[in-house]
Amino acid sequence: MISGIFASECNIGRYYKLCIFFDQNHELGYDQNMKFEVLTGRTDEHLVNLEHGQRIHKSCYDDFFRLKGTLSSKKIDMRSASSFRSYERQRTIWNEKAEGKRILRDINGNPLNYDELNCEEIFWAILNWSSIPGTSRHHWGTDLDVYDHSKYLNGERLRLINSEYQGEGPNAKLSEELFKNTDLFYRPYLDGKSYQMELWHMSHVKISKEFSDKYTIDVFKKSVSEDPKLLLKEHIIKNIDFLYKKYIALKGA
Ligand SMILES: [Zn+2]
Repeated sequence: MISGIFASECNIGRYYKLCIFFDQNHELGYDQNMKFEVLTGRTDEHLVNLEHGQRIHKSCYDDFFRLKGTLSSKKIDMRSASSFRSYERQRTIWNEKAEGKRILRDINGNPLNYDELNCEEIFWAILNWSSIPGTSRHHWGTDLDVYDHSKYLNGERLRLINSEYQGEGPNAKLSEELFKNTDLFYRPYLDGKSYQMELWHMSHVKISKEFSDKYTIDVFKKSVSEDPKLLLKEHIIKNIDFLYKKYIALKGA
C-alpha cells in the first residue's frame, strides 16, 4: 500500500514544501528473537542492571566486567556514563534539538546559532551528534559511553568530548587500552564516516553485530512511520536510503 503525505510546513514550524509517497507495507526482515521493539528501543525486556543505575543487554553483562577487570589491573576504573537509552528518551533529545531547546553543534563541536538555520540545516546539524530515534545503537543495550571514574573524583564534569580521551586528557589512558582490547568491545565511530568520531562510545562486538545485521531499512521505515510525535520526519523520509546507508548499515559494525 502506498500512502501519500503532503506537508507544506515543516513540523518544527519552518517553511518546507514536500510531497512524499511512502510505502508503509514493509516486509520486516527480523525474526521473533530480534523483535522490532528491541531493535528500536521500544522495550527494555532484553536488559539487566549493570551498575550505578545503568542497564545493559543481558548477553553483554559478563563481557563488560571482563573488560572492566582487565582495565582495573591498569588502574583504570572504567564506568558507563550512558548505556541503554529508550526510544522515548532519544526522541526527547531529538525533538528538543529540533526545537532549539538544546544546543546544536557543528562537526567540530562548536555551538551553532539555531535562529540562523532553516529546518533542513537543523536536521543535518542534529545528525552531527545525535541519532534519529529508533536508530541509536544505545537502544540495543550493547553500546556504552565509558570513562575513567578515577579521574573524576573531585567533581570534574565529564563532557564526552574527544579531547578528554586524547593527549593529556583524563580518559586518554582508557582510550589507549580500548585500542588494545578489541576482542569483546570495539568503537564503531572512529572513522567519522557516519557520526563524528566518538572515542567514548563502545559496542559489544558479537551482539551488536547481530542487531546490526537484523536492522534492515524496512525496520527503519516502520520505526519512523509509526511515530506521529517525531519532529523533522519529512527530512528523514526524503533521505531515508542515504540515512540508512550512512548511519545504520555500518560496515563491520
Ligand atoms: Zn554513545
